[in-house]
Amino acid sequence: MKLYKNDQHFLIDKRVLNRVIEYGDLNSSDVVLEIGAGYGNLTELLAERAGKVIAIEMDPVLAASINRAQNLEIYVGDALKMEFRQFNKVISNLPYSISSPVTFKLLGCKFDLGILMYQHEFAKRMVAVPGSKDYGRLSITVQYYADVHILEVVPPDAFSAPPEVSSAIVKLIPRPPPYTVKDENFFMRFLIAVFSQRRKTIKNAILNNAGLLGIRDNALGTIPDEILRKRAEVLSPFELAELADLLYDEKISSPEKI
Ligand code: SAM
Repeated sequence: MKLYKNDQHFLIDKRVLNRVIEYGDLNSSDVVLEIGAGYGNLTELLAERAGKVIAIEMDPVLAASINRAQNLEIYVGDALKMEFRQFNKVISNLPYSISSPVTFKLLGCKFDLGILMYQHEFAKRMVAVPGSKDYGRLSITVQYYADVHILEVVPPDAFSAPPEVSSAIVKLIPRPPPYTVKDENFFMRFLIAVFSQRRKTIKNAILNNAGLLGIRDNALGTIPDEILRKRAEVLSPFELAELADLLYDEKISSPEKI
């Protein structure tokens, strides 16, 4: 298998590039963040339509090759280690190896719209609904912060070098969470606990992770048996949030570090 440095699969299909721009619905008041600008194929199109483009690229040779437009700021470095300047749209063909951390970093920012290219498998997990095989922690956490849709699937030959798998363009629209939890940090730990053992019942998954959650052994007493016999993958995000809140009341200590 040939390895490409830093996820360098460049989007060369002009029709796909143009559709990414159309999905972004750009105008001169937009400030667009682009993560992983490469040699600037998407960056230049963004700069033609947006008021300002903030492009981040880790590879200094690639970054130096981008045509400098007046409304373009280029930052060379690791997007995970940089503080993002203020933006209202994020439009990127992301480096796939940082899909998860960069998505959660973005969801911690305030913005209106994301048009983001991911591996198709990752995108399916982002949009998955309860009961499906792709449903899990990623679906629940992304959907907690944003509406998320797959706009189109992109075949490997749209890129140079072609990746080994298909990609997908995802639309993210951040919005307030559709339900509340007593403690978001505890809810995220609870999701790690119940989905790390997704074939087990909720009861066993919780008991096996009592240390991680910092709950008493008898903490399950308040939860109906019919719920405890189910598996996490069949419960809706809202049901899981209710369950996490019940357990949160039984918390006895700070959870273990994960
Ligand atoms: N935007 C270009 C395009 O659409 O063809 C390039 C996209 S390519 C999939 C991802 C780019 O992200 C590569 O140019 C790579 O060097 C860069 N990259 C990889 N890891 C990065 C990181 N942690 N921070 C910033 N850029 C990164």
